[in-house]
Amino acid sequence: MQPSSPALADPASADRLRQLVQDHAEALVGAFYQTLLADDEARVFLHHSVVQERLSPSLRRWLVDLFAPGADMAEAAFVARQLKIGEVHARIKIPMHLVMAGAAVLKQRLADVLAADPAAFDLLRLTGGRIDYALRLMSQSYEKGASNRARLDEAYRLFSLDQDIHFERESQRAGLMEWSQKTLFRILASGGVEGAGALSASPFGLWIRHRAEFLFDGSSHLARLNAAMERIDAELLPRFTPGAAASDLAGPLEALEAAVDEVAFLLGEMFQGLAGMEGGRDPLTRALNRRFLSSILSREIGFANANHTPLSVLLLDVDHFKRINDTHGHPIGDEVLRQVAEAVTENVRPSDFVFRYGGEEFLVVLVETNLRQATTIAERMRHALAAKAMTASGLEPFHVTVSIGAAEHRGHPDENYLVKAADDALYRAKQNGRNRVEYDGAVA
Ligand code: GH3
Ligand code: MG
Ligand code: MG
Repeated sequence: MQPSSPALADPASADRLRQLVQDHAEALVGAFYQTLLADDEARVFLHHSVVQERLSPSLRRWLVDLFAPGADMAEAAFVARQLKIGEVHARIKIPMHLVMAGAAVLKQRLADVLAADPAAFDLLRLTGGRIDYALRLMSQSYEKGASNRARLDEAYRLFSLDQDIHFERESQRAGLMEWSQKTLFRILASGGVEGAGALSASPFGLWIRHRAEFLFDGSSHLARLNAAMERIDAELLPRFTPGAAASDLAGPLEALEAAVDEVAFLLGEMFQGLAGMEGGRDPLTRALNRRFLSSILSREIGFANANHTPLSVLLLDVDHFKRINDTHGHPIGDEVLRQVAEAVTENVRPSDFVFRYGGEEFLVVLVETNLRQATTIAERMRHALAAKAMTASGLEPFHVTVSIGAAEHRGHPDENYLVKAADDALYRAKQNGRNRVEYDGAVA
């Protein structure tokens, strides 16, 4: 069910409510913190000063805007904002019941404030309706965000367990062949397919439905495979009718064989892609695939928060990389990227994580490392790269430089916050002339 905006009360009440909320916003936010910080579970998310510095003003703004004039006109923006908040909650894994508890505190305090007003009843209804509406929107995107997150975590788990992809590939290929042989025998014996069953109902079809979504998350091949499977079941199999003459079978059999071949081909391609990732690695640079960044970083942030250990990230971007492509061509550019990744990896510990973050950008997660150590590592990396002769066939050895932004985790549970800090530092490194390291914060 799509949440819909509750009707607003008359403009005069809305105005009065807005004024009251504005006047008491500070106290309401104060009560919110006081109550939630007393709760052990909620404290984990709120105790850090960075969170309070950022959350206090945004909570106050959220409250005031909840009753902003022309809220109907700005409905789309309002909805988008609540959905966004729900997404953030999902990302930092705040349980929804804590969000409800926070809203309950605000509602209760607002009720106390409104009780003295002559129009208390109307105002209370308006308040409750508005807050509940925002909560419904938040939980809608929360659920979606949380399930995406769970899927990614599971995909990562599959990779990190180093699941036997070869075995899986062989058994699914065999499953598909078994179905097609059985079906073929039925057709040749009787002309029809009675009792053979649909491909989508076979063990192979079941596996595709329940496991392939995980393994080949978002693959266009999977969409094509599903379409081919559906065509086999809905269109090609019904062409076989019992008692048909052998001469009538040739055309439909050919079509069926081609469709099964297509399914087998797509399956092979998808497994090929998986093997190419070698446990989640980018085939060109052997750096970790970016889609696991969120799973890994949120786990490391949880670890750092629980164990009070430092954690830093570096964001590294090759300087003037476009020129390399333009001068020497894309394949040479690729070769340079491979050698840059090599130098990056050589300069971190095996416990650190090197991700291919973008085309010529790498993100390094440095575990149990503070900002001072991180900038030292970044400088070492920068020097090593500038000194490293890049080699490519047919070219004299040449040099490239990189710019690096460093940031230390400061307690905020949202991993995007940390990545953004490193990105801002990288931006400054580019602004300040490239081939340099900048870091987030005053002291390193
Ligand atoms: P800056 O110093 O500001 O970073 O300059 P730049 O030229 O590196 O700027 P920008 O980041 O805009 O350009 C990156 C280029 O990297 C653009 C894109 O064509 C190229 N690129 C991205 N991925 C790959 C890849 O996998 N292989 C190759 N050869 N080039 C890539
Ligand atoms: Mg770039
Ligand atoms: Mg660049």
